[in-house]
Amino acid sequence: MNSIDKLTELFRSFPGIGPRQAKRFVYYLLSRNGSYSGELVGAIQELKKEISQCSECLKFFVKGSQASRVCTICSDESRDSSMLMIVPRDIDLEAVERSGSYKGYYFVLGGVVPILEKEPEKKIRISNLEARIKKDKNIKEIILAMNANLDGESTAEYLKSKLTNFGTSQLIITVLGRGLSTGAELEYADPETLKNALLHRTK
Ligand SMILES: [Zn+2]
Repeated sequence: MNSIDKLTELFRSFPGIGPRQAKRFVYYLLSRNGSYSGELVGAIQELKKEISQCSECLKFFVKGSQASRVCTICSDESRDSSMLMIVPRDIDLEAVERSGSYKGYYFVLGGVVPILEKEPEKKIRISNLEARIKKDKNIKEIILAMNANLDGESTAEYLKSKLTNFGTSQLIITVLGRGLSTGAELEYADPETLKNALLHRTK
């Protein structure tokens, strides 16, 4: 495999990127001067050095000067420890956080479970979630904040079936309300919509 094909393959593995787009990226890089590629490589290496994954919610965060294993949200004791919101990805957590309407804690699933998925446990961090819920005795409500599409519904169904097996029957499980229109992704929802979806969450 030559270096054009190799880089094309790497770009193809990015979310939402097909083979043609991937190749366009490669030719774009070739058309730029040498310092651009160097900057890009440096930025990717810095990312790995500066960013850590929170041991509680599993979101990625900037480590800062102290080598903390927990992000600023999880280390904020003024938040409501009775609520744990499960979101598919980091970007969804950021959208909810930006809306300013939620003060509990989070857990980032790291993906979704598509319909008819044969190995759901390979798509999401289900065992981490189980550990997180079992060790935290303060949690009273689990909010499933999924995208309002088929994958979101299928993920919520899978989670509900799993959560009941975690031996946590006293937990209230809720889903976001109808504020989110069909097909809506959390990532693109405006703060007001998210606030309403949270206010009108249902069991
Ligand atoms: Zn965290």
